[in-house]
Amino acid sequence: MNSISALDDRYPVKTVFTNNSDWQSHEDWHRVECRNAAFQEYLRVPLTRVFYAYEEHTGNVLAITSSNVEDLEAMDKNRIPEQIGEYDALVTDVPRTMLCICTADCLPLFLYDPEQNVAAIAHCGWRGICNGIVSNTVCSMVDRFGTDPGSVVAAFGPSICKRCYEVGGELKDDFARRFSPQEVESLFTARTNGKFLLDSRRAVALELLRAGVRQEKIHDVDICTLESDDYASLRGEGAYVEAVRQTISGIVLA
Ligand SMILES: [Zn+2]
Repeated sequence: MNSISALDDRYPVKTVFTNNSDWQSHEDWHRVECRNAAFQEYLRVPLTRVFYAYEEHTGNVLAITSSNVEDLEAMDKNRIPEQIGEYDALVTDVPRTMLCICTADCLPLFLYDPEQNVAAIAHCGWRGICNGIVSNTVCSMVDRFGTDPGSVVAAFGPSICKRCYEVGGELKDDFARRFSPQEVESLFTARTNGKFLLDSRRAVALELLRAGVRQEKIHDVDICTLESDDYASLRGEGAYVEAVRQTISGIVLA
């Protein structure tokens, strides 16, 4: 398991993102309860306080606070979306509560506000970005916990990079709903085969900057999931990886 040093080395917060060797050394990790037991041991988090997003490429955020954490703990985790809806990001100010997402090329976005001691994590694929997941997550920190966006530290976990993320030109229309024409042009690079390369890290950064996060507080582990053999890539390996061994990213307030 790796961590985001820009966060863990400076703040009372713990982050984790898994790689393929974690999956190889834990053959039962396809079972969520086994993975969570590893997180419990590694991060000292109660098993009932490991919460996953539902990865439906929505712009929805779940805020976990002292007033709802016990209700959420008591729920069957598989039934949370039925009861409160699907969400692709989680925010909390409750210590020892782990927020997790699973990805294989999409961008795991870690956020931390050291002033209010609030942590968040967001699953940022292109659909989620176009549905506002980045700005909605920052807004949730601001509205629910009084975060000043200028204090927020952001970090990108492993994701597919702008040299590898080939998409169709029709995606430009989706991005035009959230980005200016100049920004859209800056996000897409035409290839000779009629396709485009998408810079999703830049798209997330543009959304963060617009939400008030400062450029110098945006960090990137700069690991490309397609180029690296150590990380799951849906585009590199196909549907198998989606079901079996995605990168699991998590954040916990100390
Ligand atoms: Zn790449």
